[in-house]
Amino acid sequence: MTVIFIKFNVVCNVSINGQHIGYVKDRSLIENEINELLALEGTNNIIFVDTVIPKYGFALVSKNQELNESEILAKISENTKLTYKYYAVTLNGEQKSIVNSLEEAENLVTEIKENYEDSVKFTIGINEIYSDNENTYETVDVKIAKQDVSEQLQEIKESSVKGVYLSQKPISGVITSRFGSRESIRSYAHTGLDIAAPYGTDIKSACDGTVSFSGYKGSYGNLVIVDCGNGVEIYYGHCSKLYVSEGDKVNAGDIIAAVGSTGNSTGNHLHFEIRVNGSQVNPQNYIYK
Ligand SMILES: [Zn+2]
Repeated sequence: MTVIFIKFNVVCNVSINGQHIGYVKDRSLIENEINELLALEGTNNIIFVDTVIPKYGFALVSKNQELNESEILAKISENTKLTYKYYAVTLNGEQKSIVNSLEEAENLVTEIKENYEDSVKFTIGINEIYSDNENTYETVDVKIAKQDVSEQLQEIKESSVKGVYLSQKPISGVITSRFGSRESIRSYAHTGLDIAAPYGTDIKSACDGTVSFSGYKGSYGNLVIVDCGNGVEIYYGHCSKLYVSEGDKVNAGDIIAAVGSTGNSTGNHLHFEIRVNGSQVNPQNYIYK
Protein backbone atom coordinates (compact mmCIF):
# COMPACT_ATOMS: atom_id res chain seq x y z
CA MET A 1 0.00 0.00 0.00
CA THR A 2 2.60 2.49 1.03
CA VAL A 3 4.45 1.93 -2.18
CA ILE A 4 1.39 2.75 -4.24
CA PHE A 5 0.85 6.09 -2.54
CA ILE A 6 4.40 7.12 -2.99
CA LYS A 7 4.48 6.35 -6.71
CA PHE A 8 0.89 7.22 -7.62
CA ASN A 9 -1.67 9.99 -7.22
CA VAL A 10 -5.38 9.40 -6.82
CA VAL A 11 -7.10 11.58 -9.41
CA CYS A 12 -10.38 11.83 -11.19
CA ASN A 13 -10.62 10.25 -14.61
CA VAL A 14 -12.94 12.19 -16.93
CA SER A 15 -14.65 10.76 -19.98
CA ILE A 16 -17.18 12.08 -22.45
CA ASN A 17 -19.39 9.70 -24.42
CA GLY A 18 -17.30 6.78 -23.29
CA GLN A 19 -14.08 8.41 -24.37
CA HIS A 20 -11.39 9.19 -21.87
CA ILE A 21 -10.45 12.85 -22.13
CA GLY A 22 -8.14 13.39 -19.21
CA TYR A 23 -7.51 13.68 -15.53
CA VAL A 24 -8.38 16.33 -12.98
CA LYS A 25 -7.51 16.57 -9.37
CA ASP A 26 -11.01 17.58 -8.36
CA ARG A 27 -14.19 16.92 -10.37
CA SER A 28 -15.95 19.94 -8.89
CA LEU A 29 -13.82 22.09 -11.19
CA ILE A 30 -15.51 20.49 -14.20
CA GLU A 31 -18.92 20.50 -12.57
CA ASN A 32 -18.68 24.20 -11.81
CA GLU A 33 -17.79 24.89 -15.42
CA ILE A 34 -20.80 22.94 -16.63
CA ASN A 35 -23.08 24.70 -14.18
CA GLU A 36 -21.80 28.01 -15.45
CA LEU A 37 -22.58 26.99 -19.01
CA LEU A 38 -26.06 25.84 -18.04
CA ALA A 39 -26.64 29.11 -16.19
CA LEU A 40 -26.21 30.94 -19.52
CA GLU A 41 -29.65 29.71 -20.50
CA GLY A 42 -32.02 32.66 -20.42
CA THR A 43 -29.29 35.29 -20.61
CA ASN A 44 -28.02 37.25 -23.61
CA ASN A 45 -30.53 35.75 -26.04
CA ILE A 46 -29.39 32.23 -25.19
CA ILE A 47 -32.54 30.16 -25.22
CA PHE A 48 -31.00 26.73 -24.89
CA VAL A 49 -27.74 25.21 -23.67
CA ASP A 50 -26.92 21.74 -24.86
CA THR A 51 -23.84 20.49 -23.09
CA VAL A 52 -22.18 17.19 -22.29
CA ILE A 53 -22.37 15.27 -19.06
CA PRO A 54 -18.94 13.77 -18.38
CA LYS A 55 -18.43 10.58 -16.44
CA TYR A 56 -15.98 10.51 -13.59
CA GLY A 57 -14.01 7.69 -12.10
CA PHE A 58 -11.11 7.30 -9.75
CA ALA A 59 -7.76 6.59 -11.20
CA LEU A 60 -4.34 6.02 -9.88
CA VAL A 61 -1.86 7.76 -12.05
CA SER A 62 1.85 8.01 -11.81
CA LYS A 63 3.09 11.09 -10.03
CA ASN A 64 4.55 12.52 -13.20
CA GLN A 65 1.32 12.07 -15.18
CA GLU A 66 0.25 15.59 -16.10
CA LEU A 67 -3.25 16.76 -15.29
CA ASN A 68 -4.91 18.47 -18.22
CA GLU A 69 -7.72 20.42 -16.64
CA SER A 70 -7.69 23.30 -19.11
CA GLU A 71 -7.84 20.89 -22.05
CA ILE A 72 -10.83 19.15 -20.49
CA LEU A 73 -12.60 22.47 -19.95
CA ALA A 74 -11.90 23.43 -23.56
CA LYS A 75 -13.26 20.08 -24.73
CA ILE A 76 -16.44 20.62 -22.76
CA SER A 77 -17.10 24.06 -24.18
CA GLU A 78 -16.32 22.66 -27.64
CA ASN A 79 -19.07 20.12 -27.09
CA THR A 80 -21.55 22.68 -25.84
CA LYS A 81 -24.09 24.09 -28.24
CA LEU A 82 -25.81 27.37 -27.48
CA THR A 83 -29.01 28.31 -29.26
CA TYR A 84 -29.84 31.98 -29.56
CA LYS A 85 -33.28 33.43 -30.03
CA TYR A 86 -34.13 36.83 -31.48
CA TYR A 87 -37.22 38.66 -32.63
CA ALA A 88 -37.62 39.99 -36.14
CA VAL A 89 -40.15 42.72 -36.80
CA THR A 90 -41.69 42.02 -40.20
CA LEU A 91 -43.43 44.36 -42.55
CA ASN A 92 -45.60 42.74 -45.22
CA GLY A 93 -43.79 39.50 -44.51
CA GLU A 94 -40.29 40.90 -44.86
CA GLN A 95 -37.88 41.09 -41.94
CA LYS A 96 -37.10 44.71 -41.25
CA SER A 97 -35.33 44.82 -37.91
CA ILE A 98 -34.10 42.35 -35.36
CA VAL A 99 -34.41 43.10 -31.68
CA ASN A 100 -33.37 41.22 -28.57
CA SER A 101 -36.61 40.72 -26.72
CA LEU A 102 -40.24 39.97 -27.38
CA GLU A 103 -41.18 42.92 -25.24
CA GLU A 104 -39.16 45.28 -27.41
CA ALA A 105 -40.71 43.83 -30.56
CA GLU A 106 -44.23 44.07 -29.17
CA ASN A 107 -43.79 47.68 -28.06
CA LEU A 108 -42.51 48.56 -31.48
CA VAL A 109 -45.40 46.90 -33.27
CA THR A 110 -47.95 48.64 -31.06
CA GLU A 111 -46.33 52.02 -31.57
CA ILE A 112 -46.03 51.62 -35.34
CA LYS A 113 -49.64 50.50 -35.65
CA GLU A 114 -50.85 53.52 -33.70
CA ASN A 115 -48.95 55.87 -35.98
CA TYR A 116 -49.68 54.36 -39.37
CA GLU A 117 -52.69 52.08 -39.35
CA ASP A 118 -55.15 54.71 -40.58
CA SER A 119 -53.08 55.96 -43.48
CA VAL A 120 -51.87 52.81 -45.20
CA LYS A 121 -52.64 49.10 -45.35
CA PHE A 122 -49.80 46.94 -44.14
CA THR A 123 -49.11 43.82 -42.14
CA ILE A 124 -46.68 44.09 -39.29
CA GLY A 125 -45.66 41.06 -37.32
CA ILE A 126 -43.09 39.43 -35.10
CA ASN A 127 -41.06 36.36 -36.06
CA GLU A 128 -38.99 34.35 -33.64
CA ILE A 129 -35.65 33.51 -35.17
CA TYR A 130 -33.05 31.09 -33.91
CA SER A 131 -29.36 30.66 -34.49
CA ASP A 132 -26.52 28.60 -33.10
CA ASN A 133 -24.17 31.45 -33.69
CA GLU A 134 -24.30 34.67 -31.73
CA ASN A 135 -23.10 36.64 -34.75
CA THR A 136 -25.64 35.42 -37.30
CA TYR A 137 -28.05 38.22 -36.57
CA GLU A 138 -27.26 41.80 -35.88
CA THR A 139 -29.73 43.17 -33.42
CA VAL A 140 -30.61 46.82 -33.14
CA ASP A 141 -32.13 48.87 -30.36
CA VAL A 142 -35.81 49.77 -30.44
CA LYS A 143 -35.10 53.30 -31.63
CA ILE A 144 -33.24 52.08 -34.70
CA ALA A 145 -35.79 49.34 -35.32
CA LYS A 146 -38.56 51.91 -35.23
CA GLN A 147 -36.67 54.06 -37.70
CA ASP A 148 -36.14 51.10 -40.06
CA VAL A 149 -39.80 50.17 -40.07
CA SER A 150 -41.01 53.77 -40.27
CA GLU A 151 -38.82 54.49 -43.28
CA GLN A 152 -40.22 51.47 -45.06
CA LEU A 153 -43.76 52.46 -44.10
CA GLN A 154 -43.19 55.93 -45.48
CA GLU A 155 -42.17 54.32 -48.77
CA ILE A 156 -45.26 52.12 -48.70
CA LYS A 157 -47.39 55.15 -47.99
CA GLU A 158 -45.93 57.04 -50.94
CA SER A 159 -46.44 54.03 -53.23
CA SER A 160 -50.04 53.48 -52.15
CA VAL A 161 -53.22 54.46 -53.93
CA LYS A 162 -56.04 54.71 -51.38
CA GLY A 163 -54.12 52.37 -49.10
CA VAL A 164 -53.39 49.90 -51.92
CA TYR A 165 -49.65 49.32 -52.01
CA LEU A 166 -48.07 49.08 -55.46
CA SER A 167 -45.07 47.07 -54.42
CA GLN A 168 -44.06 45.73 -57.83
CA LYS A 169 -43.26 47.42 -61.15
CA PRO A 170 -45.12 45.33 -63.75
CA ILE A 171 -42.24 45.55 -66.22
CA SER A 172 -39.05 47.50 -66.53
CA GLY A 173 -38.74 49.48 -69.70
CA VAL A 174 -38.74 52.90 -71.25
CA ILE A 175 -41.68 55.18 -70.59
CA THR A 176 -42.93 56.22 -74.02
CA SER A 177 -46.10 58.10 -73.12
CA ARG A 178 -47.10 59.70 -69.86
CA PHE A 179 -50.48 60.10 -68.26
CA GLY A 180 -52.45 62.98 -69.76
CA SER A 181 -50.27 63.38 -72.84
CA ARG A 182 -51.94 64.17 -76.18
CA GLU A 183 -50.69 62.33 -79.24
CA SER A 184 -51.87 61.76 -82.78
CA ILE A 185 -52.70 58.08 -82.07
CA ARG A 186 -55.76 59.11 -80.02
CA SER A 187 -58.16 62.02 -79.76
CA TYR A 188 -58.15 62.29 -75.96
CA ALA A 189 -55.59 62.72 -73.17
CA HIS A 190 -53.67 59.52 -72.39
CA THR A 191 -55.42 57.58 -69.61
CA GLY A 192 -52.42 55.63 -68.42
CA LEU A 193 -48.70 55.20 -68.65
CA ASP A 194 -47.01 53.45 -71.60
CA ILE A 195 -43.88 51.42 -70.94
CA ALA A 196 -42.11 49.89 -73.92
CA ALA A 197 -40.58 46.43 -73.61
CA PRO A 198 -39.83 43.54 -75.97
CA TYR A 199 -42.66 41.32 -77.24
CA GLY A 200 -43.45 38.57 -74.73
CA THR A 201 -41.90 40.27 -71.66
CA ASP A 202 -43.56 39.06 -68.45
CA ILE A 203 -46.03 41.52 -66.97
CA LYS A 204 -46.29 41.26 -63.18
CA SER A 205 -49.18 42.37 -61.05
CA ALA A 206 -48.34 45.62 -59.27
CA CYS A 207 -50.39 44.70 -56.22
CA ASP A 208 -52.47 41.99 -54.60
CA GLY A 209 -56.01 41.66 -55.88
CA THR A 210 -58.58 39.74 -57.90
CA VAL A 211 -58.73 39.59 -61.69
CA SER A 212 -61.99 41.28 -62.69
CA PHE A 213 -61.44 41.06 -66.47
CA SER A 214 -59.16 39.12 -68.78
CA GLY A 215 -59.88 39.27 -72.50
CA TYR A 216 -60.02 41.50 -75.55
CA LYS A 217 -61.46 44.97 -75.06
CA GLY A 218 -61.48 47.47 -77.97
CA SER A 219 -58.53 49.85 -78.11
CA TYR A 220 -56.94 48.17 -75.03
CA GLY A 221 -56.49 44.98 -77.05
CA ASN A 222 -55.83 42.04 -74.76
CA LEU A 223 -56.46 43.44 -71.32
CA VAL A 224 -56.18 42.30 -67.71
CA ILE A 225 -57.96 44.29 -65.03
CA VAL A 226 -57.03 43.59 -61.42
CA ASP A 227 -59.36 44.80 -58.70
CA CYS A 228 -57.11 45.74 -55.80
CA GLY A 229 -59.85 46.68 -53.35
CA ASN A 230 -60.72 50.11 -51.93
CA GLY A 231 -62.11 51.10 -55.34
CA VAL A 232 -58.70 50.74 -56.99
CA GLU A 233 -58.44 48.91 -60.33
CA ILE A 234 -55.36 48.42 -62.47
CA TYR A 235 -55.51 47.93 -66.25
CA TYR A 236 -52.76 46.13 -68.17
CA GLY A 237 -53.38 46.69 -71.88
CA HIS A 238 -52.08 45.69 -75.36
CA CYS A 239 -50.91 42.29 -74.06
CA SER A 240 -49.83 39.52 -76.43
CA LYS A 241 -50.84 36.77 -73.98
CA LEU A 242 -53.11 36.63 -70.96
CA TYR A 243 -52.13 34.20 -68.20
CA VAL A 244 -54.98 34.81 -65.76
CA SER A 245 -58.75 34.52 -65.84
CA GLU A 246 -61.55 36.44 -64.28
CA GLY A 247 -61.88 35.59 -60.60
CA ASP A 248 -58.22 34.58 -60.11
CA LYS A 249 -56.54 35.90 -57.01
CA VAL A 250 -53.15 37.44 -57.70
CA ASN A 251 -50.33 38.61 -55.50
CA ALA A 252 -48.03 41.47 -56.29
CA GLY A 253 -45.27 40.08 -58.50
CA ASP A 254 -47.36 37.28 -60.06
CA ILE A 255 -46.98 37.07 -63.84
CA ILE A 256 -50.38 37.87 -65.33
CA ALA A 257 -49.73 38.57 -69.03
CA ALA A 258 -47.08 39.20 -71.69
CA VAL A 259 -46.19 42.43 -73.48
CA GLY A 260 -47.60 42.83 -76.97
CA SER A 261 -49.13 45.38 -79.31
CA THR A 262 -52.79 44.37 -79.53
CA GLY A 263 -55.56 46.99 -79.83
CA ASN A 264 -54.78 50.61 -80.57
CA SER A 265 -51.01 50.31 -80.40
CA THR A 266 -48.11 51.04 -82.71
CA GLY A 267 -45.46 48.94 -80.97
CA ASN A 268 -44.83 46.49 -78.14
CA HIS A 269 -45.61 48.17 -74.85
CA LEU A 270 -47.66 47.91 -71.70
CA HIS A 271 -50.47 50.36 -71.15
CA PHE A 272 -50.62 50.66 -67.37
CA GLU A 273 -53.67 52.41 -66.05
CA ILE A 274 -54.90 53.00 -62.51
CA ARG A 275 -58.50 53.83 -61.76
CA VAL A 276 -59.82 54.98 -58.42
CA ASN A 277 -63.60 54.64 -58.19
CA GLY A 278 -63.66 54.57 -61.97
CA SER A 279 -61.51 57.64 -62.62
CA GLN A 280 -58.02 57.41 -64.06
CA VAL A 281 -55.21 58.79 -61.91
CA ASN A 282 -51.59 59.45 -62.80
CA PRO A 283 -49.67 56.19 -62.11
CA GLN A 284 -46.46 58.15 -61.68
CA ASN A 285 -47.78 59.62 -58.47
CA TYR A 286 -47.27 56.12 -57.00
CA ILE A 287 -44.96 54.06 -59.20
CA TYR A 288 -42.39 54.71 -61.99
CA LYS A 289 -41.84 58.08 -60.31
ZN1 LIG B 1 -51.32 53.80 -73.27
